[in-house]
Amino acid sequence: MADKKIHCEQCNKPAVYLDREQGVHLCRDHLKESVENEVRRYLKTKSLPETLGVAFSGGKDSTALLKVLSEIRSELPCSIIALTVDEGIEGYRQDTIRAATETCLTLEIPHKIIRFQDLYGYSLDHLVSGSERNACTICGILRRRALEVLAQKHSISMIATGHNQDDHAQTTLMNAISGDVRKVFSGYGPSSWYAHRIKPFARVSEKEVTLYALLSGLFKDLPECPYAVSSLRGEVRTLLYQYEQKHPGAMRNAARCEEEIRERLGGTYHPEEYKACSVCGWPGSGTICQVCMVLGKDIPHHNTVTKE
Ligand code: SF4
Repeated sequence: MADKKIHCEQCNKPAVYLDREQGVHLCRDHLKESVENEVRRYLKTKSLPETLGVAFSGGKDSTALLKVLSEIRSELPCSIIALTVDEGIEGYRQDTIRAATETCLTLEIPHKIIRFQDLYGYSLDHLVSGSERNACTICGILRRRALEVLAQKHSISMIATGHNQDDHAQTTLMNAISGDVRKVFSGYGPSSWYAHRIKPFARVSEKEVTLYALLSGLFKDLPECPYAVSSLRGEVRTLLYQYEQKHPGAMRNAARCEEEIRERLGGTYHPEEYKACSVCGWPGSGTICQVCMVLGKDIPHHNTVTKE
C-alpha cells in the first residue's frame, strides 16, 4: 500500500503544517525555524533598546513570542523582560497569571506584573458590573495605560506584543466597521510619551503561532476571558476565518492593508495634537483622557510612577 503520509517540502520528515496560501507543507522543525526567521527578519528592521519589554498575558500568542525571543536571545542586542497586566477578571486571570509566571521561570526571563486593583483602585469586574459598558473597550483603554506605567517604572522604551497577522486583519475590518479613521493612524500617536510598540508576529498567521506554542511544549489549555464572547472582535474573527477558507490569502491581504496605507502616506500625515489630561496629566485627544473618562473624575493618583 502506498505511503499516504505528507512530507515536509524541505527535509522529507512528516509534515505538521500546510500553508494553504503557498501550498507548502512543513515538518515541526521547519515550521519552528520559519516562525523564528520571520521574527529575526522583523527585528532586524528595528532599532532595539537596551531592554525590550514583552507584553505577556500568558496566552498562546505572547507565550509563543516569549519562546521565540528566548530561542534567539543570544543574537539580540538587548535583554528581555516580560510585562503582565492583571485586569482583575474572576475565573480567568488567576489561571493565566499562574501560567505566565511558570513560563517565565522555565524560560528564565524576568517577569513584572501590574494590577488594575492597585493602579486604579478597581478590578475590571468591578468597573463593568451592572453596567452596559463594553468590557473590552474599557479593558483596552485601561490596559494600555497600565502597561505603559509598568514600562516606565522599569525604564522600558519599547514593547513587543504578540499580535499576529490574523489580529491585524481583524483590526482592519473593525476599524472599517466603526468608521474611525483615526485608529488607522494610531501608530502616529505621541511617541515621546509612550513606549514604542513593535509586533514581531505581524506576518505570522495565528495558526503558525498556535502550532509554535504547541510544538514548544508551552501551550496550556487556559480558560477564555468571559467577556470575549460578546466582543465585536469575536464576530469579525469568525467572519474572516470563513472567508479565508474560501479565499486563501484574504487574511494576509486584510492584515497588510492598513500597513500599506500608512507606508504610502509616509510623512504626509500629521496626527492630531495631543494635550495633557487636566486630571492625570497623561496625553489625550480631549481635555480629559480616556482613562479618566472611564474611571470618572474621582480617581486615585494612578499616574504616579515610582522607579525601583
Ligand atoms: Fe479584556 Fe476583552 Fe480581552 Fe477580556 S477579551 S482580556 S475584557 S480585551
